[in-house]
Amino acid sequence: MKNNLIRRKPHYGQKIVYLTFDDGPSSHLKAILNILNFYNIKAHFFFCGIYMDDSKSNDIAQLLADGHIIGNHSYTHPHFSSLSYIEQCNEINLQNNNIHNYTHHKTKFFRPPFGCFNDNTLRVVNNLNMEIILWSIDSRDWELEHEPEKIINNVLNNLHDGAIILLHETEQTLSILQPLIESILKKRYSFALLNY
Ligand SMILES: [Zn+2]
Repeated sequence: MKNNLIRRKPHYGQKIVYLTFDDGPSSHLKAILNILNFYNIKAHFFFCGIYMDDSKSNDIAQLLADGHIIGNHSYTHPHFSSLSYIEQCNEINLQNNNIHNYTHHKTKFFRPPFGCFNDNTLRVVNNLNMEIILWSIDSRDWELEHEPEKIINNVLNNLHDGAIILLHETEQTLSILQPLIESILKKRYSFALLNY
């Protein structure tokens, strides 16, 4: 089976990192896009089917127009290792179709909910010619609702070339996004998309 599992993507000599936002689209998406736009930074957004509805259509269109990339984060956000091969197939296919309905784009990136997967997941993703995108820096933003400044430290203390940074579309993440980007830039890192 070909290696279709990515945790980091070093560039040897360059300092490049990748921002990824899980569990959207949320009500914070538009504000996140505005900040990224201000810095001309492109990012990956891993969407769940259950959060995509017509009220988010404008934000999704904006995201694509700005040049960001939508990835598959499953339809209902289950633990994949507790699902059968067929159930995993259905979760990923349903969300691929859903993303296609909204965007007319085919997504090649899958991020398993909770980073949890097994051999069946690898087989499904391989059959669909997709890649699993994990992460090398966990910002733990989802649990730092009351201490958002710690999100910045969690990222900065672990920064390395090729880092895939895990963030979520939460209020606390939005509240520190601008200083987080500023601090990463100050350390002379730049931002990129995974397929470039
Ligand atoms: Zn998630």
